[in-house]
Amino acid sequence: MAHGWRTRISAGARTAGAAAGALLMTTLYAGSDDAAERARMVEEIDAMYAETRAETGLAAMSPAVRAAMGKVERHRLVPASQASLAYRNHPLPIGSGQTISQPYIVALSTDLLDPQPKDVVLDVGTGSGYQAAVLAEIVHQVYSIEIIDALANDARRALGALGYRNITVRTGDGYLGWPEHAPFDGIVVAAAAPRIPQALVDQLRPGGKMVIPVGADYGVQYLVLVTKRADGGIDERRVLPVRFVPLVPGSAQ
Ligand code: SAH
Repeated sequence: MAHGWRTRISAGARTAGAAAGALLMTTLYAGSDDAAERARMVEEIDAMYAETRAETGLAAMSPAVRAAMGKVERHRLVPASQASLAYRNHPLPIGSGQTISQPYIVALSTDLLDPQPKDVVLDVGTGSGYQAAVLAEIVHQVYSIEIIDALANDARRALGALGYRNITVRTGDGYLGWPEHAPFDGIVVAAAAPRIPQALVDQLRPGGKMVIPVGADYGVQYLVLVTKRADGGIDERRVLPVRFVPLVPGSAQ
């Protein structure tokens, strides 16, 4: 039943072909209209929302997420070699052995958090900075943690060049969260953990939500929506089968 879209949410599945085509398309891309490409990407995401509606419970992107997806300049956050492919709705390599999620997953993760303008959100696994930028279009402040120093530095530079002033990036272990800025209204994790890290639950405010892929490295994983209850416990909902790179076990493990 789910086979058709499941292949499309598999991170990295088509990146080899994508890399091969990147060189050729860079020249063509220079003259193209990136706003039109984003609009096309948003339509593809609309179609995937419709296909996955039964599983996700979301029929369509919220207006805020839709506007953010149409605005964030993904081609200026991915490596230059991937810029021509930035608006394809599939995963992309970003260097340091890492792959970023397809835009559909970024949109869905953002929507599942139900982000509000006054929210303070923690983004674990900065990568390219794209998820952080999408969040920053909607919420008050984004704190983003990346374990690979080179990626954190590149993302900080690129997000600064794009004019984002409400994103703070640091190098660190996302398993530990960022206690100095807790509690968070929302937490989004971009790499799969074998189980929900308790430190992150502790840093959610009551009523706050976390979106995290849970499951074995490169095995069966589900995107899980965690909601923290007033009593400190959590409710969990499996949203979709997914494939993410592993959350590197840090000192908390
Ligand atoms: N949100 C990113 C997706 C990046 S892919 C984007 O929009 O581009 C997942 C990222 O998680 C990788 O960059 C990887 O280096 C990072 N990561 C893996 N384990 C981590 C950990 N323990 N703490 C912080 N970041 C981690």
